[in-house]
Amino acid sequence: MSLRYVSTRGQAPELAFADVLLAGLATDGGLYVPDEWPALAAANESRAGAGRPGCDDSSPASEEQSGTPTPARSPSGPPGQDSYAATAVEVMWPFVAGQIDREAFETLTADAYTTFDHPDVAPLVPLDEDEDLWLMELFHGPTLAFKDIALQLVGRLFDHELARRGERVTIVGATSGDTGSAAIEACRDRDALDIFVLHPHGRVSEVQRRQMTTVPSANVHNIAIEGSFDDCQDLVKAMFADEAFRHRHRLAAVNSINFARVMAQIVYYVVAARAVADVSGSGGPVSFAVPTGNFGNVYAGYAAQRMGLELSQLVVGSNTNDILTRFLASSRLEIREVVPTMSPSMDIQVSSNLERLLFELYDRQGAAIATLLKWLRATGEADLAPEAAAGLAPLWSGARVDEAQTLSVIGDVHRRSGLMIDPHTAVGVGAAATARRDPDTPLVVLATAHPAKFPEAVERGCGRRPLLPDHLADLHDRPERCSVLGNDLAAVQRFVADRTRTRGEG
Ligand SMILES: *Cc1c(COP(=O)(O)O)cnc(C)c1O
Repeated sequence: MSLRYVSTRGQAPELAFADVLLAGLATDGGLYVPDEWPALAAANESRAGAGRPGCDDSSPASEEQSGTPTPARSPSGPPGQDSYAATAVEVMWPFVAGQIDREAFETLTADAYTTFDHPDVAPLVPLDEDEDLWLMELFHGPTLAFKDIALQLVGRLFDHELARRGERVTIVGATSGDTGSAAIEACRDRDALDIFVLHPHGRVSEVQRRQMTTVPSANVHNIAIEGSFDDCQDLVKAMFADEAFRHRHRLAAVNSINFARVMAQIVYYVVAARAVADVSGSGGPVSFAVPTGNFGNVYAGYAAQRMGLELSQLVVGSNTNDILTRFLASSRLEIREVVPTMSPSMDIQVSSNLERLLFELYDRQGAAIATLLKWLRATGEADLAPEAAAGLAPLWSGARVDEAQTLSVIGDVHRRSGLMIDPHTAVGVGAAATARRDPDTPLVVLATAHPAKFPEAVERGCGRRPLLPDHLADLHDRPERCSVLGNDLAAVQRFVADRTRTRGEG
């Protein structure tokens, strides 16, 4: 029997995993969550013989590490029982069982994580051993941000399921820089997919643009729109709203509300807790601090807890756009203008995945969630019912880290440990320092981007300019492919229609 998935607004049909994967948003505007949380076996336990967590000397972030080096896990050899991919299959299997063949799932998962340039995939690195403070580096994938961990798998799952059905889809998305490249890397060269990514012409960084436009695959189409990021988003929304167009080209999205992405992110919480247990020799509870935007990453930590992982605290780190930390302090949601920061992937007004946590806080009453969110949209603010708010206190806390603090954290971490961290990660480290409750419980900060993705901010913070890893070292010499179009729906639709491959064309 397959696990069933229900909508957070309670009005959409229950679906099984494969349909949830392809549907994205539920028909009632809600988000899919599993009907019940599967249980993890021996969640926090050390895997004896798995070796100490890797602290690879060739890792760019640890290049200048001055502390005692931690012995690295043997870098190669066949992926064993303790490999990241093996844990990933173990953790994710209950979510997909009955919907995909076990062997196929193992192969897709193993393939997804061979694209990472670190043998541990997500290595655990000491930040301050005296304080039992750790970093888990989630940025060793093809585009240097944590989104690769989920998207490398989701792209493969999409392709597999569509091939099984004999269908194909056209992925369309807008990006302000970061998500676009992760989606492109996830979809490139997949037979059942074409991908079109719109970005604002001249308004994304050189590294971000080149990560998208230098991918030579025939099914990848970059469109630079003469307009803003909001214009790009409006064009994408308008394409989805055009029913005839949407059906003709089978438009689909791989956005962060897809439960498959959450599922893939649960894995590294388990991997981190086990790696900490390996080092400390005991398998007690662990806390996490997570730089947060759309709430997808930190919500996966909550999901891990629901599956049985022992967590003491989840610290949400916000930049100046601090709706979430204000919410956690006051149980009141209050929308404000978004201001641009050094950590652009967290410049968000309303975090879409928060709806999944609200659903749990309201005892899974979809109608209450629909009402609450309608109110929030209409008035820009909403208060949680006291019974729901009470559910936040034991696990959740938040801290805001402003721009000046972000720079000083980058400098501080570099002085103390020799590590260079990116501004998103710095928000996580800064939030941990403010909000950590129990100094005796190990705390893992999730490092969400490679420092070389944000070289200016890192250099301002610590006086050193981080280098791109080897696989991207020639990024600035690679030829680019990109079409510039006006802010004009008809022109963009024509472009999509012309470039979409039909079946058999290859
Ligand atoms: C997307 C992103 C985040 C925010 O993650 P959410 O799941 O949206 O909370 C943080 N840091 C980086 C580098 C990102 O790309």
